Amino acid sequence: MGKVYLVGAGPGDPELLSLKAYKLIKEADVILVDNLVLGVKKLIPRGKKVIDIGKTAKKHKFSQDAINMLMVDLSEKYEKVVRLKGGDPFIFGRGGEEAVFLREHGVDFEVVSGITSAIAVPTSFFIPLTFRGISSSVTVITGHEMKEKEESINWRAIANLKGTLVILMGVENLAKNVDQLLKHGMRAETPVAVVEKGYTEDARIVVGTLGNIVEVAAKEKVIPPAVIVVGEVVNIREKLFLPTQ
Ligand code: SAH
Repeated sequence: MGKVYLVGAGPGDPELLSLKAYKLIKEADVILVDNLVLGVKKLIPRGKKVIDIGKTAKKHKFSQDAINMLMVDLSEKYEKVVRLKGGDPFIFGRGGEEAVFLREHGVDFEVVSGITSAIAVPTSFFIPLTFRGISSSVTVITGHEMKEKEESINWRAIANLKGTLVILMGVENLAKNVDQLLKHGMRAETPVAVVEKGYTEDARIVVGTLGNIVEVAAKEKVIPPAVIVVGEVVNIREKLFLPTQ
């Protein structure tokens, strides 16, 4: 029996991979890749066996069950199976579920942390998620809850945290999520940044306020993947970036 490595591929910049992840990519007998790690794909040595199980929010090439079973099957044939996942494997993206499945099926595994897009993508546009005197906490939520769990986010609490809110998978439900925050007392003037396609050639930032971001994002035709930052820290970027950036 081989071992499965659930490896964080970082936010998209190949240089933000850990040395451990890099080493495993070189040593793997087979690599399962997601479509979020395009830049990282170039690090994979030629001739390596690669299975692309990239999936988008809407169109699933492989169901989660099929991916889980595939990992179990591959662990019976190969010694080192690397499952490359965008960002950090345990921040959304179902890494936890995959680990549970592997454990339940008696498959040896290891989780290799990656730099999550929740932190790195805002950083790439000069947004520090915490800042003394401005924000003392960061909360990361999904903007795309499973239907049956509609109420599992406590919007009242989230809207009153006073810190920074980071929303992943939030583009599709932007209007709905903004509505919840406003309804539960967050000020309409609160700055919001939507950072689209971080660490790619098309990376861009769209800035607004809770009051107008839905309109602004629609006008700018913002599409996933994007990291949404809600909070006063968004304004700090104005002090940090140079006009050419
Ligand atoms: N495990 C991943 C998150 C998976 S959920 C991590 O730790 O980063 C997928 C969501 O992550 C996307 O919907 C988007 O909100 C965010 N995301 C991932 N990569 C991104 C990128 N390069 N630019 C912008 N958002 C990104």
